[in-house]
Amino acid sequence: MIKRNYDQILNEIGEEVTVIAVTKYHTNDEAMSAYDAGVRNFGENRVEGFNEKREVIPADGKMHFIGTLQSRKVKDVIDDLHYLHSLERESIAKRIEQHAQHEVKCFIQVNVSGEETKHGLKPFEVKGFVESLQKYSKVKVVGLMTMAPETDDENEIRNCFVELRELRDELSKTYPSITELSMGMSNDYKIAVEEGATFIRIGSKLMGR
Ligand SMILES: *Cc1c(COP(=O)(O)O)cnc(C)c1O
Repeated sequence: MIKRNYDQILNEIGEEVTVIAVTKYHTNDEAMSAYDAGVRNFGENRVEGFNEKREVIPADGKMHFIGTLQSRKVKDVIDDLHYLHSLERESIAKRIEQHAQHEVKCFIQVNVSGEETKHGLKPFEVKGFVESLQKYSKVKVVGLMTMAPETDDENEIRNCFVELRELRDELSKTYPSITELSMGMSNDYKIAVEEGATFIRIGSKLMGR
């Protein structure tokens, strides 16, 4: 099942896009089925789930933290943290700098849609924030992340992704290492890929349920 879902998604998106299997509602065995199907990137949004999965995922699997992370918990995930998708406060960067033995690839989370329930910086705040992160040698900002608004309006979703891409393009003039776009989930990844996503975060459509 997971293998079939994965192959179907790969067919739809092309070679350049990385699929992150979001395993937050799934068991270690299910995560391993995804690994056996060829998935090598795994996303969790809670510290407990992250630590459970990283125990079982073989060493060539990369672990992504995709939820809000409290600064005091940075040290609990840091050893296997390859990518953080939710950087939005300098206190997190400070802790990474303090605890990491390796460079952590980070996405700045941006609240493009403006929905109050969503985390992330406002688009106009991003540049100043990236500037303030330059002093942290372990924090490597690789791109921007967003979540689309909760709506059936495809145009609204697309506009959100376009806005994130344009912000990335603008930033990359000053910071050439900012190249990636983490956007698109089960319901909207096709639109996200059309608009330039380089990482998609897929839960239900890949893992089932
Ligand atoms: C749960 C989650 C996903 C995956 O959601 P699906 O709709 O199941 O694909 C992606 N990104 C974040 C930040 C999530 O919390």
